[in-house]
Amino acid sequence: MDKILEALVGSTHSVPVKRAIVKKVVEAAEKEVTVEQCQALYSLTTRLILLGEDAFQRQVGFQVLEAYARYHRAEFERFFSREFVLGLLQQGYGTLDRKDPAIVDYIHSCLRLLISCPSVLEIFSVLQVEVLRVVCERPEPALCARLAGMLSDFVQCIPRDKAAVLFCQQLVRTIAYFHCTASQERELREYVTQVTKVSTLLQNIWKAEPTTLLPSLQEVFAIISSTDPSFDPSIALASLVQHIPLQMITLVIKSLTTDQNVKDASMTQALCRMIDWLSWPLAHYVDTWVIALLKGLAAVQKFTILIDVTLLKIELVFSRLWYPIVRQGALTVLSHMLLSFQHSPEAFHLVVPHTVSLIQMLKSGGLPSSKAFLHQFTELIHCMMYQYSGFPELYENILEAIKDMPKPSEEKIKLVLNQSAWTSQSNSLASGLPRLMGKSETGKTGLINLGNTCYMNSILQTLFMATDFRRHVLSLHLSGTHTLMKKLQLLFAILAHTQRAAYAPRSFFDASRPPWFTAGSQQDCSEYLRYLLDRFHEEEKTIRALMLTGPKHANADAGNGGTPSNCTDGRQHEVEDPSETGEERKTLIEKMFGGRLSTGIRCLRCHSVSEKEEPFTDLSLAFQPAAQTRGGVDGGRASTSAHQGAVNGGGETSDIPGRERQAAGDSSVPPADSQQAVPPLSVPDMVNYFLAPEILDEENKYYCERCSSLQRAEKTLRVLEAPEYLVLTLLRFAYDASCHVRRKILDNVAIPLLVQLPVHSHASRGPSLPQAPSPDGGENLAKKLKPSGEDVEERETEERTQVEPVPYALCAVVMHSGMSSESGHYYSYGRNVSSNDGLCPQKDEPQDPANPSDSNPVLPSGSSCSPLALQEAPQGSLPPRDWFLFNDSRVTFTSFQSVQSITSRFPKDTAYILIYRKQSLRHSQGPGATNGVRLSSEPPLQKDLMEAVTKDNKLFLQEQELSARTRALQAASASCSFRPNGSDDNEPPGSCGPSGGGGGGGGFNTVSRLVF
Ligand SMILES: [Zn+2]
Repeated sequence: MDKILEALVGSTHSVPVKRAIVKKVVEAAEKEVTVEQCQALYSLTTRLILLGEDAFQRQVGFQVLEAYARYHRAEFERFFSREFVLGLLQQGYGTLDRKDPAIVDYIHSCLRLLISCPSVLEIFSVLQVEVLRVVCERPEPALCARLAGMLSDFVQCIPRDKAAVLFCQQLVRTIAYFHCTASQERELREYVTQVTKVSTLLQNIWKAEPTTLLPSLQEVFAIISSTDPSFDPSIALASLVQHIPLQMITLVIKSLTTDQNVKDASMTQALCRMIDWLSWPLAHYVDTWVIALLKGLAAVQKFTILIDVTLLKIELVFSRLWYPIVRQGALTVLSHMLLSFQHSPEAFHLVVPHTVSLIQMLKSGGLPSSKAFLHQFTELIHCMMYQYSGFPELYENILEAIKDMPKPSEEKIKLVLNQSAWTSQSNSLASGLPRLMGKSETGKTGLINLGNTCYMNSILQTLFMATDFRRHVLSLHLSGTHTLMKKLQLLFAILAHTQRAAYAPRSFFDASRPPWFTAGSQQDCSEYLRYLLDRFHEEEKTIRALMLTGPKHANADAGNGGTPSNCTDGRQHEVEDPSETGEERKTLIEKMFGGRLSTGIRCLRCHSVSEKEEPFTDLSLAFQPAAQTRGGVDGGRASTSAHQGAVNGGGETSDIPGRERQAAGDSSVPPADSQQAVPPLSVPDMVNYFLAPEILDEENKYYCERCSSLQRAEKTLRVLEAPEYLVLTLLRFAYDASCHVRRKILDNVAIPLLVQLPVHSHASRGPSLPQAPSPDGGENLAKKLKPSGEDVEERETEERTQVEPVPYALCAVVMHSGMSSESGHYYSYGRNVSSNDGLCPQKDEPQDPANPSDSNPVLPSGSSCSPLALQEAPQGSLPPRDWFLFNDSRVTFTSFQSVQSITSRFPKDTAYILIYRKQSLRHSQGPGATNGVRLSSEPPLQKDLMEAVTKDNKLFLQEQELSARTRALQAASASCSFRPNGSDDNEPPGSCGPSGGGGGGGGFNTVSRLVF
């Protein structure tokens, strides 16, 4: 029979004739055949199948083999023996190489025929061993796919137990050798199909034998993290990713990122290769895994890897956006990479040059998916341009290309950026490590206490929250680097853009500490503020003078500063009549904080009036004498005037006992005796007391020129010019002469959100009379400490005239906690207020533009002694948590209610400095018209500032990484009892022990220990 068949297939008969004869041979299989014949037929058909010259011969071989194997099982079992199979797999067949896929196909077919025979078990156990050996030889994709097909049909051939783990690992490694040589699409598809078959087999094994999964993944990681330059694993490994159960992600990433044995170079390599997988056309969840690993690395603060990988791969990921099949995954990864890379514009600027052409391609793409994709993409670009503003020349073309696309709101951008930063990645993946010190939910940055420097920190945060001042500082074009203003500018830039939760303002502190302030000891923050403003003012004047006196390049020669761009006019007249000083000649400090005050003294005998004008940058408000515990001490004047040089008459050191107030028609000043019975003192009360006429009598008598003798006189202070920012200092520190100590007045003072300051117009002044200076013993001091060196002007006014109430909204409060100014703790509250959004009632009631205070009690303007009218905002009209609490390193949200009630809850914590923002009246002010001192938005960061911020951000990441690694090493050897504090509490600590001011201090192992 076999001879006939062999002769037949080799003959020249036509195919139909051959088929007819083959049919007869197949039918003959049912009949009795001798063992020898049977074996001869099996041999022949095997030869036809494996070595057949054409498809017909191979087909005939299968047909006949199948027929005879079915009817003569015992003979077939004998033929398809263990030795035969081993021979095929180990030696091949005739001229056929053992690695030829046809051999696996043949065995696969024979297994089907053998399946119900007892000997199949023996064959299975042979194959269990053999497939492992074959896989270890790194078969080509074609053979491996055949093998996978056979093992999928006959799972009994899959190695078991330990061998199963080994088999999976070897299979993974084999996939890593699957290099695609295809150039035609058909070949490419075939290649992908083969890879898919193999990865499907692995998936099935993982499902059936879950213990094989983790070793397989370890093998994947071992392969992709290899730094051997001679071997580049195939991206076909990407086909495995979709088969890894997603619930494994946390476990896998955690064990990877916290494994001390994984070197940085290996992790970098692995991450890069995973990012390459994004190019695999059928890969699912590659983006998910890549992002999980990126986040995991951020959580353990391995920032060096993240920086390296991002810069290395960002352009490749970007280039994948051109291909619809892998576009979505690539965009997800690109977004994460760009949004999380917040310390420097470097990564974004790598892709900027390719952006416009991508947008144009997407726009012309026409696919519905392109449109949705373009939308996502432009949102990302908007976020990045927002994060790194200040490169208009780079972004111009992009803005043009996306101008008709919707732009996300600023709130949304901020939210997205906030959530994406490496420093905000949750550390839940790396439990046992302390929580990362990222920015607080407020997005604001604290200031680290450098050792009793909370007086500075609270003032700096307050100045930072003075929005218009901050914007002006940031928009100054300063040439030098050594001026104090430059240092403030840098500090503001860092506070606005740093990734740090808290910044150590060391350089600013060193430059700004008054020489008489002992390092390391507590100081008076009010004194510091006044000193600071004075320094800025004098510095600007000096620089301006240098520029004007010297040649054109004097500024460059001076080398230590520049001048604000808005201070460019004419001649230098350092000392000049202030009334002739134009607005543009003012320094920034004068523009923002400067007001003018007049002191009028009327002789009570001849009624002649002497008046002098002085500039001020803050008003020091004394407590009324009856409002304090007495001991021969007046409300803080005695001490503070010497110490602080209160501008309202620094010379009143000796007027204490004789001070007497005429509360002329001012019912808001409570009678001295009934202090206990009336509601607590309010800020307007104190301003009224400040502005109330004062009788100079007894040893304070006034020397009247006209009378040529000492006379009783009445002294009155009036505000002539209202500053943009009104700084009010409550003179809480009273000098107790008997004990030679300064005592603190702990009285609670009610703080209204809105106040009106009576401002007298300049009009109708009488002719000036020559007059001796008032007996101000401290005039020199006052002169020295007031912000400008301008001459004091003395005038005589015949009649007071118009009083205009100027509205102010509270924007910051500096609190002092403790019993004396040399001890205790400062912290501050602040909120964003600009010059036209503090007056809530106005916004809602536009019907009467002529009178903004229409809905509120109108103050009795024009009266000789103007009290302040209060303008409380309606309760509940403000969002509850629109205030920030700055307590050194720590910044939290809080509410105005909390600010108001702090003293009643913490009796030692009292408001000390208040800053109010002048509110523009709509009938007189156009947008931005407040003396030209309002900027509508945050100015773009100047290049040098951006570079400085970037540099510091990098430093921060390095610090974090170093400390995280140190902690990880320690954690490996110690048990982890550590738990960071639950830092949500927005109550300020009443004192500042080591654990107080540190602000979530626990995890921060560097400077916070210095906090007092
Ligand atoms: Zn007189």
